[in-house]
Amino acid sequence: MADIDQKIVGYDIWHLDVPVVSRRDHGIGAIEGGFEVVVLRLTTEDGTQGWGEASCWSVFTGSPEASVAALDRYLRPIVVGKRISQRGSIMEAAKYVVAHATEAKSALESALLDLEGRIACLPVWALLGGKVRDDVALSVSIANPEVDDDIALMERIRDDGVRMVKLKTGFKDHAFDMMRCEKIRNDFPEFSLRVDYNQGLEIDEAIQRVLDLAAFQPDFIEQPVRAHHFELMTKIRSVCPVPLLADESVFGPEDMVRAAHEGIADGVSIKIMKSGGLTRAQATAKMAKSHGWMAYGGDMHETGLAHLAGTHMVAATPEIMLGCEFYHATYYVKQDILSDPFPVKNGRVVVPSAPGLGLTPDVDRLSQMARAT
Ligand code: MG
Repeated sequence: MADIDQKIVGYDIWHLDVPVVSRRDHGIGAIEGGFEVVVLRLTTEDGTQGWGEASCWSVFTGSPEASVAALDRYLRPIVVGKRISQRGSIMEAAKYVVAHATEAKSALESALLDLEGRIACLPVWALLGGKVRDDVALSVSIANPEVDDDIALMERIRDDGVRMVKLKTGFKDHAFDMMRCEKIRNDFPEFSLRVDYNQGLEIDEAIQRVLDLAAFQPDFIEQPVRAHHFELMTKIRSVCPVPLLADESVFGPEDMVRAAHEGIADGVSIKIMKSGGLTRAQATAKMAKSHGWMAYGGDMHETGLAHLAGTHMVAATPEIMLGCEFYHATYYVKQDILSDPFPVKNGRVVVPSAPGLGLTPDVDRLSQMARAT
């Protein structure tokens, strides 16, 4: 049997350009042509490999260059030569050798868990406390500035069994957002609707615009104003007739303490890229629930590799009750990096049961998509 005390001897990094099928606009910025991710592979003495992804967005979490530097210069020395069984102490050291760099730390923990799971013949969810669900309802985000293209996407995902969408708002004008809400409500009544401003509203306009969209009875309205505007979030929450969610305002457990204390929202988007890993994402979700908040499993602009890590985390976190947004690998990238398709069936993400993360990247594809260094 493979030995959990063997050493990690290989540490490889790829900085990828991931082409996408369309432009997408958000309150804080646009994606056009593609997005960038950083992939980490750890290899043990017996050749077992563990994988992780840092999904970076410079306007949200941080830059891909920062993730490369964190992984290559600061995290590599605390990993190479260590034993697989030292996962806890490696992640504890990671907190202090480089500040922030949450996507890089998430990639590292994903790769360590993948390794440990493959060695122990256990899925990652088993290492995170055990599975509480076999699949997770999928929400697809609607963010194309061309409305007709979004309508075509909604028809496609409806055929696939998806029944949740999140409308990205606050990147054009208010009439545009109202029109799209009305169209979705009228033409796609079988869908539940969520709204996400991605910080896109100005202070003086925020309350009225949120109230206007709340009239369409979305499940929730997410992050209408800038991340640091806690006081305004609290004010909006006090008048908003539908739940208010925090995303950019809450990265990890430390933000969650303050957000709950100040009552800025009714729920939170839990993302492994914000929290700095899978276990810290779980801690954030548990803290949210203890304050009566709801939670869903969010993502950044990711490939199927990061989706897998997120899926295992959500599978083992009972406090995340509102589904997930792991749709990029299926509906947004031109080609995913996983050798086999990221598992989605009838509008739900299927939780893998194979050891580790359950699937692996195609190394040839990584080489093709890698940036020249
Ligand atoms: Mg969001």
